[in-house]
This record gives sequence, C-alpha cells and structure tokens, in this order.
Amino acid sequence: MFTIEILMQAVMESRDGIIIADACAPDRPVIFTNPAFEQLTGYGPKDILGRNCRFLQGADQAQRNINVVANSLEKGEHSVVTLRNYRKDGSLFWNELSISPVFDQSSVLTHFIGIQKDVTARVVLEQRLRKERSLLERDKENLEQLVVHDTLTGIYSRKYFEDQLRTRWAQLIDTQESLVVMFIDVDYFKRFNDTYGHIAGDNALRKIALILDDSLRRVSEFVARFGGEEFIVLATEMTEEQATAHADALCQNVRNLDIPHASSPHQFLTISCGVVHIKPSSLDQPELLLKQADSALYQAKEKGRNQVARYEP
Ligand code: GH3
Ligand code: MG
Ligand code: MG
Repeated sequence: MFTIEILMQAVMESRDGIIIADACAPDRPVIFTNPAFEQLTGYGPKDILGRNCRFLQGADQAQRNINVVANSLEKGEHSVVTLRNYRKDGSLFWNELSISPVFDQSSVLTHFIGIQKDVTARVVLEQRLRKERSLLERDKENLEQLVVHDTLTGIYSRKYFEDQLRTRWAQLIDTQESLVVMFIDVDYFKRFNDTYGHIAGDNALRKIALILDDSLRRVSEFVARFGGEEFIVLATEMTEEQATAHADALCQNVRNLDIPHASSPHQFLTISCGVVHIKPSSLDQPELLLKQADSALYQAKEKGRNQVARYEP
C-alpha cells in the first residue's frame, strides 16, 4: 500500500536533485533539499535552507533563462529551463531545472518544487556540434567561392561560364535573342614565360584579367578565365557588329597595358579573339558556340594574332 514513507523514500533516493521552496515567505526560501541535490551542487541542507536558491547562479546573472524562471515564479506557473549554475567548489555545470507550483485545497499557491538535472555533457556536445556545423558552413561557402571564381585572377571561373552558358542558352531559345561568345587567347605566351619567368607570367595574366573585367561593365556580359592563358566573354543584347567592335576594344585595351614582350613580333603582350554571334536554337547544343568561337580564334591566330576574327561558316 502506498504510504507517506514510500513517498519520502522516493524523494530521498531520487537521482535528480529536488528542492522545495516556500512560496508564501518573503524571497521564497528553500525549506527542503534531498541528498541528490547535495551530490549535484556540493551544498548540503545547512548551506541552503532558508535562502533563495538564486545563489546557484553566482555572479553569472545575465542569463536570459533567469527571467523565464522569475516570470513563472511570479505567475505561479510551471517552467523548464537550462541554466549555468555553480557548485560549492565554484565549478560550472548546466542545470536543467523544472519548477512546478504547488497549490493547497483552496487553490492558494504555497510551494514550488524544483527538480534539477546535470545536463552539462549534453550542452557541451550541442555547443561542439553547433561550432562544427558553422565551421562546415564556412568551408562550404569558401568552396563555392572557389568554384565560381578563378583563384589566380579572381574573375569568374570556367565552371561559372559553363553554367551561365547553359542557362542563358535555354532562356534565349524562348526569347529569340542572340548570344555572343568571345574566345580570347594570349599571344606567344609560352615565349613570355620563357623570357620573363612564370611569376611574371602569372602577374601578366592577372593584369589582363583585370583589364578585360574592367572593360565589361554591362550586366548582360562577363568574362571568365577559361583555362591557362585563355579567357572567354559571354554577352547578350548585342548585334554582330557591336560584338566585333567590342572585341576590338578588348584587344586594344590589353595592348594599351604596355606589357613588354621582346620575343613577340608585336613587342608587347597582345591577345587574339574569336567572336561568335548566334541565335540559340533547340536543334543545337551550347557546345556548338564554343566550337565556332574556337575556330574563329584559330583564324585570328592564323592571320597574325593581335586581332579579332568573326566566325565564318
Ligand atoms: P599562341 O600565340 O599560339 O597562343 O602561343 P602561346 O605560346 O600563347 O600558346 P601555347 O598554347 O603554346 O602556350 C600557352 C602557354 O601558357 C604555355 C603555358 O606555360 C602558359 N600558361 C598557361 N597557364 C599559365 C599560368 O597559369 N601561368 C603562367 N605563368 N603561364 C601559363
Ligand atoms: Mg592557348
Ligand atoms: Mg596563347
């Protein structure tokens, strides 16, 4: 049969810390603690009886959940919160505290029961997981940046170009507008490296990338590094004449960088450019544009480099 002794034994042998506070006395003093509370906090009955148990938070009073507790005590409501608490020896533990009000027969609030659990291991694990997740997210962002941007020059990558080409191709099939590709290759660049060294070569590629990027300021066009000493421009909203004039200007802007190249017949670093102007059709693939641009570039090289050639079917 259930007796008050069994109830008492259950409370005294509970593995969770249990305290009872007087809700009617000023500042709600603790009037009972069980042995598990002493094990958890290091505070025995003589340390705590008659005191409000907020001293468990020590000087660490700027915790949002302290307000939650204060509110529920004021309203005589139940609440569960996790707080930073400090043991008698000063060490920190995370306390999951469940507070319940106790009412007498005439519904007058008389006591609060607080049940306390040390959840430090769980909270520390959660904190570690959160930190690791944010590190992973940062790595993911860095990787995405790397995929979109070329590491040497900082302009768009080939991957970005190919994604854009596919997207725009599909859009322009519907709108019947034209797409322009300018395939750019630096002239005699192997000789440039051989003459001035690879680091000077890298610096020259950065300068060329910057001037190409600076020369393209419309939202409908961009330049990417296609690979090695090759760059590629994707543009829309241009006639074939405008595209050719635009490509001429790019060649001129690179030539105007005045980067000496003693082993080139032009004496300065130059580029060649193949231009294609095409109306995307569902019968063709976007790769066709690249093939035609490459063949136009070959023409520009054949005709002596430092110039633009349009794709001629
Ligand atoms: P062409 O006028 O026919 O284009 O001659 P080219 O020498 O420019 O062409 P080729 O394809 O023979 O050589 C390209 C050179 O570009 C070879 C390679 O060392 C150099 N190159 C490619 N990528 C880089 C890079 O990232 N940095 C440097 N410094 N050089 C590069
Ligand atoms: Mg090349
Ligand atoms: Mg080249």
